[in-house]
Amino acid sequence: MNESKPLPLQYIKGVGPKRAEALATAGLLTAADMLRYYPRSYIDRNTVVTLAALGAKVRRSNLFSGEMDISRAEEINVKTEITVVARITKVRENTFGGGSRSMLIATLGDDSGGTAEIIFFQMVNYFRVVLREGVLVVVSGTPEYDDKYKKVSFHHPEVLKIDEEDEQLYKQGKILPKYRITQAMKNVHLSMRQIRSIVEDVIEVELPKLKETIPLSILQKLNLPSLADTARNLHFPETTLAVEQARKRMKFQELFFFEMMLALRKRGVKILERGLVINPKSERARILLDNLPFELTSAQKRVIREIAEDFVSGKPMNRLLQGDVGSGKTLVALFAMLMAIDAGYQTLLMAPTEILAEQHFHTLSNFLEGMGIEIVQLIGGQKAKMRREIKEKIANGQAKIIIGTHALFSGNATDESRTVDYHKVGLVVVDEQHRFGVMQRSKLREMGIRSHTIEGTELPISPHVLVMSATPIPRTLSMTLYGDLDVSVIDQMPVGRKPIITQVVFESKLSETFQFIRKEIQLGRQAFIVYPLVEKSEKVDLKSAVEHFEHLQKEVFPEFKLGLLHGQMFWYEKDDAMKAFKNKEFDILVATTVVEVGIDIPNSSVMLIENADRFGLAQLHQLRGRVGRGAEQSYCFLATKDHFQYLLGKKEVELSERLKAVVRLKTMEETTDGFKIAEVDMKLRGPGDVMGTRQSGVPDFEFTDLVSDFEIIALAKREAFGLIEQDPHLRRPEHQQTRMEFLRQYAGEKGFFDVA
Ligand code: ADP
Ligand code: MG
Repeated sequence: MNESKPLPLQYIKGVGPKRAEALATAGLLTAADMLRYYPRSYIDRNTVVTLAALGAKVRRSNLFSGEMDISRAEEINVKTEITVVARITKVRENTFGGGSRSMLIATLGDDSGGTAEIIFFQMVNYFRVVLREGVLVVVSGTPEYDDKYKKVSFHHPEVLKIDEEDEQLYKQGKILPKYRITQAMKNVHLSMRQIRSIVEDVIEVELPKLKETIPLSILQKLNLPSLADTARNLHFPETTLAVEQARKRMKFQELFFFEMMLALRKRGVKILERGLVINPKSERARILLDNLPFELTSAQKRVIREIAEDFVSGKPMNRLLQGDVGSGKTLVALFAMLMAIDAGYQTLLMAPTEILAEQHFHTLSNFLEGMGIEIVQLIGGQKAKMRREIKEKIANGQAKIIIGTHALFSGNATDESRTVDYHKVGLVVVDEQHRFGVMQRSKLREMGIRSHTIEGTELPISPHVLVMSATPIPRTLSMTLYGDLDVSVIDQMPVGRKPIITQVVFESKLSETFQFIRKEIQLGRQAFIVYPLVEKSEKVDLKSAVEHFEHLQKEVFPEFKLGLLHGQMFWYEKDDAMKAFKNKEFDILVATTVVEVGIDIPNSSVMLIENADRFGLAQLHQLRGRVGRGAEQSYCFLATKDHFQYLLGKKEVELSERLKAVVRLKTMEETTDGFKIAEVDMKLRGPGDVMGTRQSGVPDFEFTDLVSDFEIIALAKREAFGLIEQDPHLRRPEHQQTRMEFLRQYAGEKGFFDVA
């Protein structure tokens, strides 16, 4: 093929060896790299905020005065960065710290008549030189409003100087690209304008060489600009609209190749592995259904149908079952297990913790009583003799349901469980609770769960996999993340479940909450009191829970029995504590976050979470899910410092950590809907942090915002899956560039083409 060699940047006009070196530190080695060094934003007279408008905006966004409703919490865009273009009208320096330190304050002005200040406490010597009166600057940052002095100010914003030439362009209405300029670049005097002129030369050389990577038919159908137009318009747009279209194409492109990878992965599983055919007409499933003391919700019925369809499809099921805490996922999984068992297979249920494995064991044992189904547990600390017996029952097929922790199945526990000889595994159910790392199917093989081979077929026949997750991920996101899994959602709670009443309480009024708890206990109910991990250190965790436990028992609730549960206890001690609480041996369980996994104590109706501001939203939601599992009205109190009360009325544009905590607490008060909570959480922390993108396998996209770009996500998914369906090997001549670009991005996935 006639691929031209990459052109080192050195050979571009205006880049000598020194500058090339500085650019290399930002990963820019070739002209092609430079072409992909897209501006982060633009200086555009049509969109730049004037200082007068900024002042009004900052004063108006009095986010937290009075009652905040959830819709406003959802509106908050934490990343809001504001850019202004203004002239420095005055510079002054103040000293503080007894004269030992100084701060630089520059006043800004523009034609609108508004003013603002930029303030630097650090690098004052540097900014003293740069920030001169009369200089035109682009300032980007998060402004704050000082109520007392009625001033808008930016602390340590990003400041770029605009020279006269650029000022002329700006005034003529030209849109100027704003590149990220690193310190190394500044050191060799690479300014905004110089980067721009380098890019101008690069475009001339590289643009003619660019080959379109998205099939033309798709571009035309979706009315997306070509790659060459996109590159040009990202660097030097004529209009704001041109930028928008170029950005849209870039988002589509990022998602298109990612979805293509998922499509190939999914196809690989479906083609290489055959699925066991399981007849969904199960007698024992029928018996269970007839004996349930309640009706299944229609969401549960729908999901059971979806699983039944997978069972007869001849393909291995790879399904994610999403549903809020208490929505009845376990029961759905049980129906699937009974179908597999009646078809003659063994089933596995993996839980994230020992306690949860134990709970599943009891729950299933209760449901299956009298059906003659043997359930065994593989957990740590079992006596050798007992373990041997269990393994024998597994090997000879007597055990129909095998329950254990993820760790044990995978043999992480340096345990002999690696050598467990399964009989005939037809279904693996994985309970992920609130984790996101959906298990890869390939893991099954590592766990010694082999595929069956049946005479006459060369293809291995794989067990079905059902992954349960209690973390309500916004739908758009699960669609992207788990594009290679089928997703079922239980979006409905069992009838009669009363939403938990949630209230923020301030620490000075805590005695009222204690009084409330006292009354509930006198009515025969139980309560949780939860303390955060104060630091990441388990020691501190232990100390605070133990200390509070003693205080609560002696001073606050001497008439009641209190139990203690924390992370430093051995698993069997935790287990004992939970069991004792379940058996009502305690009225109150004082616990750290270890209680957050899905333990069922239907009689507990109150939860008090201390220092609730320290918890993340997802965690608060999981914790709260521990109550409200019985018939009684349940309550959740979120205790926090009194000064949060004052924060509710504070005027501040910036979403500081404390204000984010307020948003979290307010959100908990406003809703019990896990999907809504997940969306707010995503806005506060960003999808990357929430999902742990690396763990979940989603790349850090440069253009795509996983929360707000859901329409493009859906488009990209449809087109990518459609393309792989039509031309699975991308062999057609018109798909050659698409194939090459895919391999460039996902080189590690190369095997997919070989197998697909
Ligand atoms: P999840 O695993 O989704 O957190 P579970 O399956 O543990 O939820 O169900 C929570 C509780 O609700 C259990 O006690 C279960 O028996 C009960 N349950 C499940 N489905 C229903 C239903 N349709 N109606 C009433 N209760 C139900
Ligand atoms: Mg559960």
